[in-house]
Amino acid sequence: MELKGKLAVITGSNSGIGLGVAEALARAGADVVLNSFTDRAEDHDLARKIASETGVMARYIAADMSKGDDCRALIEKAGGCDILVNNAGIQYVAPIQDFPPEKWDSILAINLTSAFHTTAVALAHMRKQGWGRVVNIASAHGLTASPFKSAYIAAKHGIVGLSKTVALETAGEGITCNAICPGYVLTPLVEAQIPEQMKAHTMDRETVIREVMLDRQPSRQFATVEQIGGTVVYLCSAAADQVTGTTISVDGGWTAL
Ligand code: NAD
Repeated sequence: MELKGKLAVITGSNSGIGLGVAEALARAGADVVLNSFTDRAEDHDLARKIASETGVMARYIAADMSKGDDCRALIEKAGGCDILVNNAGIQYVAPIQDFPPEKWDSILAINLTSAFHTTAVALAHMRKQGWGRVVNIASAHGLTASPFKSAYIAAKHGIVGLSKTVALETAGEGITCNAICPGYVLTPLVEAQIPEQMKAHTMDRETVIREVMLDRQPSRQFATVEQIGGTVVYLCSAAADQVTGTTISVDGGWTAL
């Protein structure tokens, strides 16, 4: 319960990695604010479930991370922020000449610019306490590239750079900022790519996962949301007080190749 008394805001956390991170932080004792752009009963139920299972305070606040004002309002409505996890993200795959400009804009807005807005507001709260953690969920694609993912890769490289800058601007203030770079994690975002890949390669599900999707992940195993959650909890622990401005890969060896 090392994080008891801390308030964590996790963007894009009604699914996948964000939800796994929220659950891991709650299990470590932090109160959590879940978020996405929808405002459905089932979104609020996720927060209720975390609260009842862990005993922490958990709330869901709807805010659209493609809109700067919503990003800033999320932190204000949370009523503080000791731990900020910038996780909201979307993907779109197309060659650059066919890449719809509106997709480029929304990927940059949700995957990168949202973190600029949330961090700017959250730092004011963290500085008051003299303690804070900003954890940005980047990607192996924040360190390497693949074809047809121009906007995603530009945004993820951007958030690695933003993490370093925030680390330098907060160094020595009890605040750290780092980026986690997962390889493939089996979440709805990745699950949605499997049927397209099966069709494109005329392969069954297991073969396309092993031979195509995990081709660059030497372990040939997906990382799990629990492993990403555990890495966030580590970055929030006292053991990581001097870990700032860096990236932690959770990618089965992808970036070692
Ligand atoms: P996911 O689709 O399960 O989750 C994405 C989350 O972002 C959802 O909660 C969604 O509601 C939210 N979101 C989308 N648009 C939003 C908006 N406008 N405002 C607020 N929230 C919004 O996908 P995931 O795989 O869990 O991805 C989470 C993060 O992890 C993303 O930043 C993604 O790039 C990154 N990532 C994922 C993988 C992977 O293999 N799954 C690998 C590396 C990095």
